[in-house]
Amino acid sequence: MIGIGIDIGGTNTKIVAVNAAGKLVMQERFRTEAGKGAADFVRRLSAIIPAFRRKYGKKLVSIGIGAAGDVDPEKGKIRFSPNLGWRNVSLAAPLGRLTGLPCFMENDANMAAWGAFELELGRKKSTAITLTLGTGIGTGLILDGKLYHGATGSAGEAGHFKVERDGRACHCGGRGCLEAYCGSYAIMARARELVKDEAAFARRFGAPARRKFNTICLTNAAAAGNRAALRVWAETGDYLGRGLAGLILLLNPDYVVLTGGVSKAKKWFLPAMNAVLRNQQIETPFARVRVKVSDNSDLGSHGAALFGLEKKRKPCAAN
Ligand SMILES: [Zn+2]
Repeated sequence: MIGIGIDIGGTNTKIVAVNAAGKLVMQERFRTEAGKGAADFVRRLSAIIPAFRRKYGKKLVSIGIGAAGDVDPEKGKIRFSPNLGWRNVSLAAPLGRLTGLPCFMENDANMAAWGAFELELGRKKSTAITLTLGTGIGTGLILDGKLYHGATGSAGEAGHFKVERDGRACHCGGRGCLEAYCGSYAIMARARELVKDEAAFARRFGAPARRKFNTICLTNAAAAGNRAALRVWAETGDYLGRGLAGLILLLNPDYVVLTGGVSKAKKWFLPAMNAVLRNQQIETPFARVRVKVSDNSDLGSHGAALFGLEKKRKPCAAN
């Protein structure tokens, strides 16, 4: 059996075909161009599926779709995605009609959490929290081996835990959210406050091809011993630890999996994060939990494919 996984990002949409063991067998990508509207997007997406069909025929049994934002997994629609600018967009049903395959939809962090559960933890550890550290922070919860949705499918919005009263402005419109300190935009905003000459900093530490002032540049700077960069990463780790400590106290997980672009700076933010986790008074859950940083940048799309296969095999098992 082969499942298709679709990860709808703000810029690109990734489509993968993965077998039940989690091995990638085919992939495609195209520009999301959300501004053209959801109907146009579904048309372009469904035009790509026949190539997968030609290659794998009846072995293709399901489609899993992950999208950033508030997703209704029961109805297979996006309630609101600030990233895509879509409200009340139904995706699973029209895609199902156009492709003839059952489609299952989830928030992208939920799909990454399922991917982490299958690919990083081998389905062995039954309670795991996955944090996707990118522009924003997504959270997916696997509790007792099942993806946890909550009452409305909105469980896992830990990016908007308030970690400071009247703190920094968040993309959600609120203030003091975890994401407003640990999302990549927030990390770079803090770096801007401490770095005097941004252009010179990017020339010195930026990735050779682009020399951009971004988290890669800030990671390189930390590696070179730059004090501003080390300070920003330490602050990031401290805030991340505060958010994570709340989740660990609440859920007592076996594992925390960190993924996403910002997790590449693990060497520089983990010490401060771990210090917060060590400095807790209710010790047992913190002694138990293991933090794993995934190198797999495709947990979202592969997780979507594997989640679709799981739902096809055991319709009630995954939710
Ligand atoms: Zn927020």
